[in-house]
Amino acid sequence: MKFPVELILLALAPVFLLFVAWELWLFRRQGRLGLYHWRDSLCSAALGLLHQGADKLAWVLVLPLYGWIYQHHRLFDFSAGWLSFFLLFLGQDFLYYWFHRVSHRVRWLWAAHSVHHSSTRMNFTTAFRQSLMYPLAGMWAFWLPLAWLGFPPEQVVAVVLLNLAFQFFVHTQAAPKLGWLEYVFNTPSIHRGHHAKNPRYIDHNYAGVLVVWDRLFGTYAEELDSDPCDYGTVKPVNSFNPLWVSLVEWRDMLAEAWHARNWRDRLVLLFGPPEAAEKVAERQRAGEARRAAA
Ligand SMILES: [Zn+2]
Ligand SMILES: [Zn+2]
Repeated sequence: MKFPVELILLALAPVFLLFVAWELWLFRRQGRLGLYHWRDSLCSAALGLLHQGADKLAWVLVLPLYGWIYQHHRLFDFSAGWLSFFLLFLGQDFLYYWFHRVSHRVRWLWAAHSVHHSSTRMNFTTAFRQSLMYPLAGMWAFWLPLAWLGFPPEQVVAVVLLNLAFQFFVHTQAAPKLGWLEYVFNTPSIHRGHHAKNPRYIDHNYAGVLVVWDRLFGTYAEELDSDPCDYGTVKPVNSFNPLWVSLVEWRDMLAEAWHARNWRDRLVLLFGPPEAAEKVAERQRAGEARRAAA
């Protein structure tokens, strides 16, 4: 029987848990156990499981579309082999960079992705923090070009999940900078910067596996001892309830869009950058003040 690729992450769960145990042991020895908070980690684990469920369902629903594009519209025929696997990995990692960058700059996608950033801690369990809402946000659409290029849908799923599996290992404060690897790969140091809300780091380091995309497209920020990472989101979630954490930004976004005064504001609130919500609110307050004065 063939291994169902959609289950790669669940199959790797024992490895992930082993690393969590190692990190806990290390921090205990170093007197840094405060980097863990059991309710925060439990919330992350629950979010990971919810995301796995939603993700499996999404693949069942969208695989026929991937299959149709691959069957009828593919541009190339890749023969199975290492070269084709390498090209697929490269293409998917490039698309991941853009998916991730758009997820930080378009609120519709940020509503889902903010879940991953909602913890004020940074440890291996932070990697489990994924959104149940990615299928609705449209994450699945970002890999469609790979099927169109000519990569079989099953391989696309496998590479998407392997990329995520790699990213588990960059969620830690247990590793220092890693020398020349910092120039090629996404590392713990680089990803710590990504999870920080300090002005120096925010909206930088979008890498999945390769950091070359950040260096190429001008979104790389080096982690500095002089500016220690302050983890979390600008708008804190302050909850350990996985359903609340999954839905609160959707609720805020939809409520604000519903009450918007015009369609321009409504579109900005849904598809503008996340911080634009504050500007729209200011504009509305100024408008109300003007009307009250008139
Ligand atoms: Zn992110
Ligand atoms: Zn992360």
